[in-house]
Formats: sequence, structure tokens, C-alpha cells
Amino acid sequence: MILILDLDDTIFPATSLDYSIFDKAKSIVESYTIETFGPAKSAKIIEEVKLTPFDVVARKYDFPEEMIRLFEKEINAIDYSLDINVFDDYHYLKNLNVEKYLVTAGFSRLQKAKIDALKIESDFREVFIDDPFDPNRQFKQQFFEQILHTTQMPPEKTWVIGDNPSMELKAGKNLNLNTIQRLNQNSQRSAYADHTIFSFEDLSLILNTGKNKI
Ligand SMILES: [Mg+2]
Repeated sequence: MILILDLDDTIFPATSLDYSIFDKAKSIVESYTIETFGPAKSAKIIEEVKLTPFDVVARKYDFPEEMIRLFEKEINAIDYSLDINVFDDYHYLKNLNVEKYLVTAGFSRLQKAKIDALKIESDFREVFIDDPFDPNRQFKQQFFEQILHTTQMPPEKTWVIGDNPSMELKAGKNLNLNTIQRLNQNSQRSAYADHTIFSFEDLSLILNTGKNKI
């Protein structure tokens, strides 16, 4: 059996990030969206940028290439030293004697800084970052396929654990993997989740019996 984990809002609460480090990058999105869509919609788009992969928002609102490059430049200039912590129940995951892989989407430098700050790298056999700025971008599903290929693990023994209703859980279902959604407050239940958990404490029961405690 292997586990494939998402990072943001699965291993640590993304809301605990101090978003002021993104102020300069944010102002680039802000000035473009205020001018194009007006202040009210701009505020809504900024919220989406915080919670959704940047390329998804960029496509949705058709951000011009030039503005995306400027944003990328600012993101890469940030000096990341993050003060974040894993969820309190993380030790239940860490102590499971199962091989784990981390597949996270986001800007490489930021995702690496999060992994460093959380001190979790050694908990995973391998870490993959799905960077929206990578010109040869692979998406989560391709990383999952790569893991299955390397480990030769059958899909029924491979578990994907994440919070996002449509990203990793959907990619997992596309490959017939088992999926577990970590629900947080206000999160929407995914149609692609076989099981749901509120804490990693509930993991071992699901992995051992396939039954959901909740
Ligand atoms: Mg997530």
C-alpha cells in the first residue's frame, strides 16, 4: 500500500500563512483586475488567487501574458521564511508505517519553503511539485501515474488524500485509485471522494477496513 498526500489544507492549514509576503505580487493582480473588472470583482478575484492555483484563476479571467510574467517575477523575488505548523493530528499520518508520497501544486520556491518550514520532507519517499510556471508542466495526475509506474503498486492499493474537491481527488479517481477527502471547516464534499476524514486519526481504520468511521 502507498499513500499520496496533498500539502495545503491537507497537512497544514493554508490560512495560517502570512499573506503579507505576497503584497507586491498581489498589487500586480489588483491593479489589473480593478481596471478591468472594477473594485468589487477585483476583491473576489484576489480571494480566489489566495485559495486556488494561480494558473486556474489566470485562465478563468483571461489574465494577459505580460501581467502573468510580472506576477511570476514578484513571486520569485519573495524571501520566504514561513512560520507555519502541521495540523495537530499530523503525527497520526507520520507514524503510519506506510510509504508516503507528497504531490503538491504551487510555485516551486513557495512549496519548498512550506515543506522546509513544516520539517516534513523526510516523512515522504519522494516529493513532487506541480508548478504552474513550469514550461513543461506536469499535472498531479501525471505525477500519480509516474508514482504508480515506479512503485508498480496496483491502483486498489494506492490511496490519494487531499482536501480539494476537484484536483487531487478527481485525478485519483481518473486512475481508479482510492480517494480520501480531508474536510476542513466550510469545505465542500467532493463527488470524487470514497471516504472523508476530519483528522488523520481516522485514517488507519479506513486503510485497514475500507470503512468510514464518520
Ligand atoms: Mg490542498
